[in-house]
Amino acid sequence: MNLAESASLVLAAQERGWERAETPEDADLVLLNTCSVRATAEQRVMGRLAHYASIKRKKAQSSFVLVMAGCMAERAGERLKKEIPALDFVIGTSARSRFPLVLEAVEKGQTEALKNLVEAGEKPVFSFSAFHLDQTNPFRSFIPIMHGCNNFCSYCIVPYVRGREVSRSPAAILEEIRLVGEKGVREITLLGQNVNSYLWEGSLILPAWAVNGSSTLISGNSGKLDFPGLLELIALNLQAWGVKWVRFLSSHPGDFSRETIRVIAENSIFCRHIHLCVQHGSNKILKAMNRRYSREQYLSLVGDLRSSLPDLSLSTDILVGFPGETEGDLEETLDLMEEVKFLYAYMYHFNPREGTAAFSLPCRIDEDTKRKRLSRVIALQKRHTAELLKSRIGNEVTVLVEGISRKNADELISRTERDEMAVVPGDASLAGSFGRITLSSLRGNTFRAGTIELLN
Ligand code: SF4
Repeated sequence: MNLAESASLVLAAQERGWERAETPEDADLVLLNTCSVRATAEQRVMGRLAHYASIKRKKAQSSFVLVMAGCMAERAGERLKKEIPALDFVIGTSARSRFPLVLEAVEKGQTEALKNLVEAGEKPVFSFSAFHLDQTNPFRSFIPIMHGCNNFCSYCIVPYVRGREVSRSPAAILEEIRLVGEKGVREITLLGQNVNSYLWEGSLILPAWAVNGSSTLISGNSGKLDFPGLLELIALNLQAWGVKWVRFLSSHPGDFSRETIRVIAENSIFCRHIHLCVQHGSNKILKAMNRRYSREQYLSLVGDLRSSLPDLSLSTDILVGFPGETEGDLEETLDLMEEVKFLYAYMYHFNPREGTAAFSLPCRIDEDTKRKRLSRVIALQKRHTAELLKSRIGNEVTVLVEGISRKNADELISRTERDEMAVVPGDASLAGSFGRITLSSLRGNTFRAGTIELLN
């Protein structure tokens, strides 16, 4: 999500004629787009702020304007502005539309006047940017479809820093997909904190070029469109553009409907990989986390997904060391991992975040135990990843070539539908192409292939 938001801020500056500076010393403005989800990310931002404050002190007269955006700006920006005088503007997630005002003030040398105006202004309402194409990755694009979260998992700060769920209009989503398709994007990822709870209530009038189709979920000029309805609408309209693959992130198991599985199964444009955050395998801990599903419901969903989508790969997030977690709870998590066999997982241990419900829970687990439990989870996941990848050797698959390998200019890096990486021989002219390869061997977690047969 942060990548998409960074890309839209960069585009806002470029549209006004701004260019990237090589160093902060050459810059008129330094923008830090921040994330609050992990405490470690916030610590890194604090280090960066101190670094830029020190450069500003040295530059004295002709210094840059220092701007902090994103969820950390929303959560702690006003306090940081008092503590770090070098920080000129904080633009929280809901105030991104103020960024062009900051750019204009810098252009006109009127930043002091704008500071007074922004501080006296009302709290803005979140609105989506129109375009999020990251120019460093021209063939893949992130398309935000919703923002915020209503789930309030007890360990998570997101609902506090990003606010309640807001869904983006289907017309704006289709328009952005058409635009990125015209610019050569071949794969999109629909983004949101909980994409499955996407729900648009309002105008269903689509751009003039769009096909409405016969979906029963789309009725009249106003009404409701849910996530499977949106996927159907995108599938109907994608045929006309260069975009061929669609992914989505993140999925909450409690909101993943059987209708969504049906739509994915009926439309091959949806990649056969789903990131389905489980977080834990013990019902006691899932309840304490306020995850709203049980281990049995999660496994039943996985069963339904696998029977409708036999080629599917699954990845997940796992959080160990939650307050009150016993060795038995950890065993249940390891057992669930054995049952599902995730292709990969983001694994971390609990760190209390002030302001969340879990912050004040008793029975915290000591650091040493958390680390040991986490290493057991990581070791098991590494084994599963290695086994799953090895079992794929010899398969013929379709890949999207993303660009030149960083290690060897004669090799290309490509990705399968199942989110596996493969290196193939070739030159830069093939970037953005789809092709068929045979997964012939593995180096680490990356496949190698001898040749690529282009599909387009
Ligand atoms: Fe946080 Fe839970 Fe919402 Fe995910 S679903 S963003 S973990 S509150």
